[in-house]
Amino acid sequence: MSRSGTSRGRLSEAEAAARSQAAQREIRVVGDPVLRDRAHIVESFDGALRKLAFRMIQIMHDAPGIGLAAPQLGVQKRLIVFEVDDEEPRILVNPDITWTSEDSAEFDEGCLSVPGVMVPVVRAAGIEVAGQDVHGEAVRFRAEGLEARVIQHEVDHLEGVLILDRTGRRERAAAMRELRDSVPAL
Ligand SMILES: [Zn+2]
Repeated sequence: MSRSGTSRGRLSEAEAAARSQAAQREIRVVGDPVLRDRAHIVESFDGALRKLAFRMIQIMHDAPGIGLAAPQLGVQKRLIVFEVDDEEPRILVNPDITWTSEDSAEFDEGCLSVPGVMVPVVRAAGIEVAGQDVHGEAVRFRAEGLEARVIQHEVDHLEGVLILDRTGRRERAAAMRELRDSVPAL
């Protein structure tokens, strides 16, 4: 999920812009079929998985975003990373949303794979999620607010679902027009 605002802490503006461009080149954008596939369960918790997770955190920071799912880098694995409210970044493997609250909330969401678009998305206000950490240890916790939203957004990526599928018909049409205008004609 993309970050609104561009505060980059200690980096100079030019450095942040260069890093952002490099990160965005790694991220698949809407139209790439990899974003529409269902990602595979992770079975080996090895060095390669840890390396991928740390690369995802780096790209999420640089983009900048507050969440990233492996398929956005073209990797069909059930692996997400997220970071909200300046907490430590978290890695979640094989995430499964096991409970959603009855109350929901609407909020404008952006996505690093749908650049330049913000659309209103209704999601559960609170969730419980189960999964594994990067070492394969079981984890289960509840989240609410922005954290619950980011996790639902990233888990959607593992199912090939984008914010364009989660918004109203009119908002989707407007977003598609915006996307069309920003992509050079072939
Ligand atoms: Zn996204």
